[in-house]
Amino acid sequence: MMGIILLGPPGAGKGTQAKRISAAFSIPQISTGDMLREAVKNGTEMGRLAKTYMDQGGLVPDEVVIGIVRDRLQAPDCGKGFILDGFPRTIPQAEALDRVTAALAKEIRTVLSLEVDEKELMERLCGRRTCTACGAMYHVRFNPPKAEGKCDKCGSSLIQRDDDKEETILARLVNYRKSTEPLIRYYKGTGKIRSVRASGDIDAIYADIVKILQ
Ligand code: ADP
Ligand code: AMP
Repeated sequence: MMGIILLGPPGAGKGTQAKRISAAFSIPQISTGDMLREAVKNGTEMGRLAKTYMDQGGLVPDEVVIGIVRDRLQAPDCGKGFILDGFPRTIPQAEALDRVTAALAKEIRTVLSLEVDEKELMERLCGRRTCTACGAMYHVRFNPPKAEGKCDKCGSSLIQRDDDKEETILARLVNYRKSTEPLIRYYKGTGKIRSVRASGDIDAIYADIVKILQ
């Protein structure tokens, strides 16, 4: 069972690396951020509630995201393993995950802690662009598409996320430090955490991750 958690601040490269790991190891990427944005787009009741937190750079209440992950982990495609990207983000979420995985006879094998200089994060997030159709991730400077504003993989247009503006990013970074960073200690206690230097070349970081996972 290849249960993996990607831990790290907003902009650390969790989504970028999760997509590669998912393709290489044939296990699904479970991004609570993506699932919440999908709910917002579909205008569900949960989406409307979540949006009020996301627009402020706040965290969506624990019970909402825990429910999403509990349901998702029961899908058949999680049988071989899964990559949690952006969950858990609080100690209560991590404790709930421990209960859920135990109940489903699943196991977290490795927690990858992506470490990036704080000052790099703002520039990464301000320049982030996402494909509206396939979700591929770009950066206007660090990982630009071949044609401006168009996805290399599917040709659809790229957009900037609503919460990737400076004041919202600052709030997200504050919430990361307050609520999510304590998880590093939580997982140090389990012996499953491995730190990954996540500055520099995307391919080189991915190669380091593969070495850890193999
Ligand atoms: P997260 O999911 O942790 O918030 P992303 O994977 O969305 O982070 O990456 C944030 C932005 O930084 C994206 O625009 C991405 O293209 C870019 N990025 C990811 N990894 C690197 C890297 N090693 N160097 C420079 N930019 C990167
Ligand atoms: P992300 O795509 O991971 O950057 O998440 C975008 C936003 O979704 C965050 O700023 C939060 O508002 C919300 N979110 C995503 N995952 C969680 C989580 N595990 N707990 C609480 N809120 C979350």
